[in-house]
Amino acid sequence: MTEFQLFHDIVTDPFDYARNWKEANRRKIVGHFCSYTPEEIIHAAGALPFRIFGSGEAISRSDEHLQAYSCSFVRSALADALSGKLAFLDGTVFPHTCDTIQRLSDIWRINLTFGFHSDIGLPVKLDTASAREYLKSVFKKFKNELSGHLDCTITTDDLQRAAGLYNRMRSDMKQMFDLRRENPSLISSNDLQALVKASMIMDREVFSEKLSAILRDLSAIKPQPSQSLKRLVLSGGMCNIPSVHSLIEDCGAAIVWDDSCSGARYFEGSIAPHGDIIESIAERYMDKIECPAKHTDLFRRGEALVNIAKNNKADGVIFLFLKFCDPHAFDYPYVKELLVKEGIASMLLEIEAPLPSEEQLKTRCQAFLETL
Ligand code: SF4
Repeated sequence: MTEFQLFHDIVTDPFDYARNWKEANRRKIVGHFCSYTPEEIIHAAGALPFRIFGSGEAISRSDEHLQAYSCSFVRSALADALSGKLAFLDGTVFPHTCDTIQRLSDIWRINLTFGFHSDIGLPVKLDTASAREYLKSVFKKFKNELSGHLDCTITTDDLQRAAGLYNRMRSDMKQMFDLRRENPSLISSNDLQALVKASMIMDREVFSEKLSAILRDLSAIKPQPSQSLKRLVLSGGMCNIPSVHSLIEDCGAAIVWDDSCSGARYFEGSIAPHGDIIESIAERYMDKIECPAKHTDLFRRGEALVNIAKNNKADGVIFLFLKFCDPHAFDYPYVKELLVKEGIASMLLEIEAPLPSEEQLKTRCQAFLETL
């Protein structure tokens, strides 16, 4: 779809976009790794929060620093940094998530010099009052550190404006996903993936305007009678291989929800506009469904996925995990068991670039769809 071409272009070469943005705007760019980074604070500091995805090129450059059994996302991100692709960064932020990201932080600090280096020590267990207070203090400390690193003042007004902008973007992205669920032929998953990823790279004000315009246009289209496609929910971590989504759709499925770091988990929740704004930003991270590198109740993530599947009237769930991703692999058995108990079929695809042959994946997808 032509409206989405800009997002595809940016996602195809985020480095080129970032370099041009920096030159045109004379502003700073802060790289980060995870949806637990409080991007709102970086935006309020006048910098561009730049999500590092890993281009997948020359990944072997990272082999002298990381074991071959680290996930390809982390290996690829380090390879990009070592090869100078990320030289436009003025600093990098590492939220405390999985072990691999934490170790990457140390390797990055020792071997690279992209401006400042900041670790955000998030609590692991998120459902206690003390964790709530702790997270708020961590974000306040991060705000102070960031204004020192970037030599700027971050005012309450700056934070309020950033929170308002992020609330708007998140709500519009959710509406795009809702539209696709009601009318899967309206937006391809490939386009939606590009949109969500571009939202983590682009100038957020520009992105928000473009997104609102697309949403207005698409909302005006009357839903077509839908073909009888199998309805699937995707679940997993960061998916860097957009062809997987097209491949699943080409097998005769409609992807009705995407519970991944490059899908709904990035935009769920909103920041309360009242009270201490940093505390409100922290509250959103406490309240949303946690990623598998965090912990609340023993079964909360699995129960949330069951609800997502039911609420979206899904026929099945496809897990998309990067090879060697421990947090997702650790949760998988119990999450699958909960789905089985509810009669919801699922399949696990390990995705790594290069993908296994397209035919091999299609055969697996088609076989799964036939069982639904
Ligand atoms: S959560 Fe999984 S995919 Fe993400 S960085 Fe950690 S190991 Fe890699």
